[in-house]
Amino acid sequence: MKRKLSTQLSLGFVIIVLIAISLISLTANSLINLQFEKYVAEQQKSLSEEMAGVLAPQYDSDTGEWNLDYIHGFGMYALKDGYIIKVYDAEKTVVWDAENHDMTLCHQIMLDISSRMEEKRPEWDGTFLTCRYNLTQNGAIVGYLDVSYYSPYYFSESEFRFLDSLNQILFIVGALSIAGAAIAGVVLARRLSAPIAKTTEITREISEGNYSIRFESAVGTQELEELRKAVNHMAESLEKQETLRRQLTSDVAHELRTPIANVSSQLEAILEEVWEPTPERLQSCYQELGRISSIVSDLEKLRQIEAENLSLKKEPVDLLELSQAVRATFEPELERKGLICTVTGESAVVWGDQKRLHQVIMNLVSNAIKYSSGGGQLHLSIEDQPTAAALIVEDQGCGIPETDLPFIFERFYRADRSRNRKTGGAGIGLTIVKAIVHAHNGTISVESQEGRGSRFTVVLPKKT
Ligand code: ADP
Repeated sequence: MKRKLSTQLSLGFVIIVLIAISLISLTANSLINLQFEKYVAEQQKSLSEEMAGVLAPQYDSDTGEWNLDYIHGFGMYALKDGYIIKVYDAEKTVVWDAENHDMTLCHQIMLDISSRMEEKRPEWDGTFLTCRYNLTQNGAIVGYLDVSYYSPYYFSESEFRFLDSLNQILFIVGALSIAGAAIAGVVLARRLSAPIAKTTEITREISEGNYSIRFESAVGTQELEELRKAVNHMAESLEKQETLRRQLTSDVAHELRTPIANVSSQLEAILEEVWEPTPERLQSCYQELGRISSIVSDLEKLRQIEAENLSLKKEPVDLLELSQAVRATFEPELERKGLICTVTGESAVVWGDQKRLHQVIMNLVSNAIKYSSGGGQLHLSIEDQPTAAALIVEDQGCGIPETDLPFIFERFYRADRSRNRKTGGAGIGLTIVKAIVHAHNGTISVESQEGRGSRFTVVLPKKT
């Protein structure tokens, strides 16, 4: 069974807190108890020693008398705390003895201590021990003190209360932490699961063909924000692809319909002997077939380029030489359109595929000629940079509207459809250029002003 994220997170947090609290309680309890036992045992030992210090001055060496009232008061006070004392003089004759004084009380107190300890500490192994201390005045022994108490330690009622309240605090902290962990788990899970659920919903919509949907509101978690952006980007790409696909179908149909209709109507008229098959009419049919075949060959070229296995036969290629060769190829067309084409710059050698790079320059120059009216200027310049070479193709043609600029490298995208049909472009020349430049790890960019001209810049790294 699949558990919800909130249940899993809360459960995880509670388990972590439980482990942490148990570990803290266990170690704190045993450490505190250990330290406390040590402290109490030391306290009890030093208290016994202090008693000797307090009782020694109770002997008056001048009169040879003991201050029995004081000793009695002190003894009874000590008895209440669990110390049974016995005072002897220098000859070891008993001066004051708690047991003699109140045997029943002594036994009662001893019984209280041992039963309390045994009840709360079943592992407690206390024995009633008697320690003897010398009572001295100016270095001379004036008597002895026997102090009997439970060894190694025993706890009074208030000391037990102190330990109990420590445990209670740990328990309360533990319970509060568990509740806090469960709440934190639920809150965190909500924050995480809401954008995930939204992403699922949006991707489902996308899979059903709704490419215009977007995940609008930003998400606070970095990874989820990346996911949101990725989903939006995917939707955008699919939307663009879908538009292009639709456009491609309609473009291909549109492009082919006119020449096919022309050829078929002319052939029909000739077959029905309405028209004479004159060389001019056959020439016209031949031209229309040429248009069809150029569209088909463009499609074929694109398929090849987009097959992704654009394998490059790399060798040193001088962009300046290549540009001059392309210029020479277009000489007749330039003359026909009354255009002047200049090639400037220095020789710049890149490591690339000569045939493909030739195609790049051909396409760019062909466009520059195609979209220039008579009498303009074309300029090709090569820049040799330390790690790259730049090729710039500039024209003074019709330019590209700003709204079209981001799309001109897309398949079958043509800025001005009606005009471009006349120019004969199918809208894949720049797609091919971009694919080749990218295969060389290069970049291509365009700046253009409508009515003023365009400037295409290709930058190719020298070593790829
Ligand atoms: P086409 O075969 O239509 O020329 P391209 O992919 O080569 O296709 O170019 C895409 C579109 O970009 C063209 O239809 C045209 O609108 C625009 N374009 C490309 N180069 C230029 C240029 N030098 N001057 C003006 N417009 C251009």
